[in-house]
Amino acid sequence: MPIQVLPDSVAARIAAGEVIERPASVVKELVENSFDAGATRIRVDLSDGGRESISVRDNGDGIEPDEVELAFERFATSKLSSDDELMGIATLGFRGEALPSIASVSIVEVQSTTSDGTVGRDLLLEFGKKRKSEQIGAPPGTSVTVRSLFQNVPARKRFLSSASGELSRVHAVLTNYAMARPDVAIEFVADGATRWATGGTGNLRDVIVTLQGAEAASLMLEVDSQPDGSEMAVSGLAGSPSLSRGNRNFISLNVNGRWFLNRRISYAVEQAYHGFLGERRFPIAALTLRIPDGDVDVNVHPTKAEVKFLREQAVFGMVQKSVRQALLDHAPIPSVIPPRAPGIIRAGGVVLPPLANPLWPNPLTPGAPPPPSVMGDHQIENDFTGPSTPRDTLPVLRLLGQAHETYLIAEGPDGLYMIDQHAAHERVIFEEIIARANASEPESQHLLVPETFELTPDQEDALMKVSDQLGQMGFVLEDFGPRTLLVRAVPRVLGDRSASKTLLEILDGVIESVAPGAWTERTYATLACHSSVTAGRRMNDDEARELLKRLEAAEQPNTCPHGRPTMIHMSETAMAREFHRT
Ligand code: ADP
Ligand code: MG
Repeated sequence: MPIQVLPDSVAARIAAGEVIERPASVVKELVENSFDAGATRIRVDLSDGGRESISVRDNGDGIEPDEVELAFERFATSKLSSDDELMGIATLGFRGEALPSIASVSIVEVQSTTSDGTVGRDLLLEFGKKRKSEQIGAPPGTSVTVRSLFQNVPARKRFLSSASGELSRVHAVLTNYAMARPDVAIEFVADGATRWATGGTGNLRDVIVTLQGAEAASLMLEVDSQPDGSEMAVSGLAGSPSLSRGNRNFISLNVNGRWFLNRRISYAVEQAYHGFLGERRFPIAALTLRIPDGDVDVNVHPTKAEVKFLREQAVFGMVQKSVRQALLDHAPIPSVIPPRAPGIIRAGGVVLPPLANPLWPNPLTPGAPPPPSVMGDHQIENDFTGPSTPRDTLPVLRLLGQAHETYLIAEGPDGLYMIDQHAAHERVIFEEIIARANASEPESQHLLVPETFELTPDQEDALMKVSDQLGQMGFVLEDFGPRTLLVRAVPRVLGDRSASKTLLEILDGVIESVAPGAWTERTYATLACHSSVTAGRRMNDDEARELLKRLEAAEQPNTCPHGRPTMIHMSETAMAREFHRT
C-alpha cells in the first residue's frame, strides 16, 4: 500500500501521546518499522547510549523514493487506511506518528531503496526542516540515523540518564524483540563493539543462548499448546525452577510477534510456578501468543507497549495452564510445603527470606508495632513480642536446644526466646561483613578450582556498578572472555557455598534496585543470606551457643537484614498468664 496521510476521522481515534521519550523509544519505533518492512536482518548501532547517535539499518522492502518525504508527515502511513481496520491490526505500526515525532526533536537521515528499484533516496532533516534530498545507489533496505536527540528541547534532554542507563533500556527493548522474532537476525552494537547478535535461525532457544548463555538455554522447557477448539495458542520456553531470578524482568511476552507488557498475563506465568519457586523469586520465560488479530486491541497505549485482549480471562488461563503443564511434565513437584504463618519461615526448605516487605513493619522503626508472632495456629497478640525498645541489645541467653532443626530455644533473665537460626545468622554475618568492608579488611578465601559463569549484558552492567563493593567484600573476580566471569576467591564467610549463585543474585538485586545506591545494603544482605546456616540444618550445641553469643553482640539483633524478626520472646509474665498462674 502506498504511504498516505490518514483522514482526520481515523487520526482522531488513535491513542495519542508522546511516543519519543528517550533513545529506547526511538529504537523501538525504528525496529518495529523494520519488522513491518519484512526485514530478516536488523542492525542497531548506538553512540554514547544513543545520546550522540542511533542508527537502525534493515534489509526490508524499503520506501519508494518519491514517498520518503511523505513518510515524515504526521499520520502518514502505508499500513492503515480506514478506521474499521483499527481493530485487527497485523502490523506493528499503524499511526504514522513515529518518523515525524523523531524528526521534530533530532537530526535524522534516511537512506532507503526498494527491493525492485535500483536508485534510492537520501533525505536529511534537521529538527523537522529538510536539509538534503538526493538520489543514491544503495542496496535494498532502509537505514535511519538519528543524531543530537532533544538538542532543541533541553528540558527533555536533561531527563535522559547516563549512557549506560540508556544503553540498558535499549538492550531491554532489543532482547524482548529478539525473543519475539527469532526468525530475524538482530545485531546490537554500542560504541563500535557488538554487544550481541542473534542468528535469525527461527529457533528461540538459539536466541536464549545468545542472551542468557548456553547453560540457561539448556534449562528452558518447551511450552506449546493450543486449547481444544480454540483459535488461540501459546508457545515458547519457560525456565526450569532452578533458573529463577530476583525480579520479573525476565518474563518476555509477545502476541503475534509484537512484544507487549501486561501485568495480568505476566502474573499468569508467575502463578504457574506456584510451589516451584521460593518467595520473591521469579521465572524466566519467553512466550509467543497466537491470537486472531481481531481479538487484540493494540490501539490502547501511546507507545503501543500495552495491549488489550478481548478475552483476557481465556488468555490468562491458557498461559497459566500451559506453563504449569510444561513444569509438571519436566520437573518434579517439591516436597510438601507446610502452611506458612507470619514470622516463621518454611521448615526444611532452602527458601530465601522475603525482602523488606512494606506490610511488615520493621520493629526497629520507632513507633512501629511489634512483628506479628504466632504459636501453633493461634495468633496471640502482645504476649510474644520482640524486645521493646529500638536497638535493644540482648541479655545473656542460655541455650535449651534446637526445635525442628530451624529454631533455637533459649532462656533469658525474662522468659523464653525462640530464635530463627537462619535469620539470626544472617543478622550476625551482615553486621560483620559491613564492619570488615568499612575497615577495608576483607577476608578472602581462594577457590581450589576457580568458577566461571556467563553474564547477560544487564548483569554485566550491574557488575560494573558493584565491582568495588564486591572487592571490599572479598570477591576476587576476573574477566574471562566475552561476558564470562572468573571467580578466583570469595569472601571467607561464604565458605564452600556456590559463588556463582550468590553473585548472580547480587547482580539481579542491583538490576532490580531503582534508586541509585539502593543496592549497596542489599548486596551485603544477599551475601549474608547465602553465607548463613539454612533452616532445616541440625546445629550442635557449640555452634548454637556460638551463634547466640554473636547475636547478643549484634547492634540490631531483633531483625534479619531483610526486616524479618530473628526471634520471638515470651516473657515469664506472659507464660504465667497463659498457664493461669496469675
Ligand atoms: P507507521 O509505522 O505507524 O506507519 P512511521 O512514522 O513509523 O509510521 O512510518 C511511516 C511510514 O514510513 C511507514 O508506514 C512505512 O511505509 C514507511 N517506513 C518507515 N520505516 C520504514 C522501513 N524501515 N522500511 C520500509 N518502510 C518504512
Ligand atoms: Mg512505525
